[in-house]
Amino acid sequence: MIDKMGRDITYLRISLTDKCNLRCRYCMPEEGVCKRSHHEMMNEDEVVTAVEVAASLGIRKIRLTGGEPLVKKNILSICRRVSAVEGIQEVCLTTNGILLPALGRELRRAGVNRVNLSLDTLDRAKYAYITRIGKLEQFRAGLKAAMEAGFDKVKINAVLIGGFNDDEIEALANLTMEYPVDMRFIELMPIQDHDEFGQEAYVPYSKVLEKLPQAIPVEHDGGVAKLYRLPGAKGNIGLISPISAHFCGECNRLRLTADGKLKPCLHAPDEYSIRGLDRDGMKAVFEQAIWNKPAWHGDLDALHRSQAGRNMNEIGG
Ligand code: SAM
Ligand code: SF4
Repeated sequence: MIDKMGRDITYLRISLTDKCNLRCRYCMPEEGVCKRSHHEMMNEDEVVTAVEVAASLGIRKIRLTGGEPLVKKNILSICRRVSAVEGIQEVCLTTNGILLPALGRELRRAGVNRVNLSLDTLDRAKYAYITRIGKLEQFRAGLKAAMEAGFDKVKINAVLIGGFNDDEIEALANLTMEYPVDMRFIELMPIQDHDEFGQEAYVPYSKVLEKLPQAIPVEHDGGVAKLYRLPGAKGNIGLISPISAHFCGECNRLRLTADGKLKPCLHAPDEYSIRGLDRDGMKAVFEQAIWNKPAWHGDLDALHRSQAGRNMNEIGG
C-alpha cells in the first residue's frame, strides 16, 4: 500500500516480546522490563492474523525481532505460520544469537530466510560491559550455529558508539574476510529514557569510512544501508545512518509492538492499536497507520532525543 508521501510500504517488523536475555545499555534498562500479564501482549494467533492482513495490503517482507525473539517459547511455530502466509516472500529474524546453537537449524526449517545477529565488540570484557550480562563465547557459538544452519544470508549489526567501539571498526569489518557475512554499522540512536552515553558517543557513519580507506563502494541492494566491500572479502560492509543522513524518504517500513500497537515511524509517538479487532477492523487500522506515516522522524541527534516514547526493546529495532 502507498502512503500519503507516495512510499510503497512492503516491510513489517514485528516485536514478538519486549523481554530479553541481555540488557544492552543503549536498548533497555538494567532491571529488565516490568512484568506484564499475558493478555496485554499479542498472542500467536493475533500475530499471524496481523501478518495475513498486512500481506493483503502489500507487505512482502517480515522481520521478527524484540526484545529477543528467541526467548519466545513458541518461536518455531510463529515462524512456520508466518512464513506460510500467502504473499510473504521473506521472513527475517534479528537476534543477539545467544540461543541460536539450540534453535538455528530448526528456525531455518521453520521458514526463516535470513538472520541478523547483533555484536558491538570483539573484546570479552567490553561485550560483558555493553550487554551487562552477556558472554562473548555465547555470541561466537551463536554465529557458528547461524553459519551452519543454511540461512540465505547472515548479517552482523554493530551499534557504532564513539569512545566504546570506534577503535574496533577494522577488527569488526575484518569479520567479512573470515566469514560470508555482511557487517553493518548502525549509528547510535538517542532513544532510551535514561542516557548512558555522552555526546561523543554519537559518531557519524563517515568515521567507518575514515578507518577503512580500502573499502570499495558496492551497488545498493534496495535496503537502507550504504554498501562497501573490502578487497577479497566474503561479504559487504553496510553503513546505516538514521542520524547523519536519514533515509525517511525511502522508508518502506511499518512496525508492530509486542503489545499490539502499529508504529508507522520508529521515532514518532504515533501508535495505532490492533488489539481486540476482527480482520476487517485490523485492516482498517493498518490502512490508517500506513496512510498517516510521518514524512520523517524529526530532529534526531545527541541533543534531540527520539520521540518514540518507548525503549528500543519495546519497539523492535
Ligand atoms: N535482541 C535482538 C538483537 O539484539 O539483535 C533484536 C532486538 S534489538 C532491539 C534490534 C537491534 O536494535 C539490535 O541490532 C540493536 O543493536 C539495535 N539497537 C537497539 N538500541 C539501539 C539504539 N539506541 N541505537 C541503535 N541501534 C539500537
Ligand atoms: Fe536485548 Fe537486543 Fe536490546 Fe540487546 S539490543 S538488550 S540483545 S533486545
